Amino acid sequence: MDLDNYQDLKKTIENCGARLVAVSKTKPNSAIQELYEAGQLIFGENRVQELVAKQEALPKDIQWHCIGHLQRNKVKYIAPFVAMIHSIDSIELLKEVNKQGKKNDRRIPVLLQFHIASEDSKFGLEITEAKNILEHKETFEFIDFAGVMGMATFTSDKDQVRSEFRLLKGIFDQLKQQYFQVDSNFKEISMGMSGDYKLAIEEGSTMVRIGSLLFGNR
Ligand SMILES: *Cc1c(COP(=O)(O)O)cnc(C)c1O
Repeated sequence: MDLDNYQDLKKTIENCGARLVAVSKTKPNSAIQELYEAGQLIFGENRVQELVAKQEALPKDIQWHCIGHLQRNKVKYIAPFVAMIHSIDSIELLKEVNKQGKKNDRRIPVLLQFHIASEDSKFGLEITEAKNILEHKETFEFIDFAGVMGMATFTSDKDQVRSEFRLLKGIFDQLKQQYFQVDSNFKEISMGMSGDYKLAIEEGSTMVRIGSLLFGNR
């Protein structure tokens, strides 16, 4: 891994007021350890089994973010330690995270994932579903609503990608205004990956999830 490249990328992102989630899925522990020693604390994974194995093996101050589609029956394995779940895409999943938060006596930070891409393969909530959840947000005592997440369409059409990020920023602003005016925890907009993080930051991203640009192609 090119650590100069990492430091430059991190600086660029942080100078824009955003944070870097290093997406380490499929990469070996040694690669994560190397980046950790260079100063990276936030890592993103999308498979529960892999996430748990890495958490057990690697330094305990790493903040593990679950970024991929999460099955309800697997929430229990990550609930004791996960630093953030980016991929809340149904009320049923949120209820399970709340239940496991209660069991572990901790509030689990989550992002509501929205479907902003034109591809129908990507998971996410509709705005009406999110509002149904947030109308009753006090019932989720073990959830810390931290913001929103989305994935743009995989396309070279920058205008399209930009407009999808703008859509997510608009959703964030609307939810913030309607439900979290006095809640400073609701502040994250997780958008942008290796191919589109610059556009995402221009459109207001606070967290970019970058894998291949850091670790090489998977
Ligand atoms: C894999 C993945 C990323 C990182 O993708 P790269 O193109 O390698 O930067 C970001 N977000 C999610 C949800 C992912 O699954």
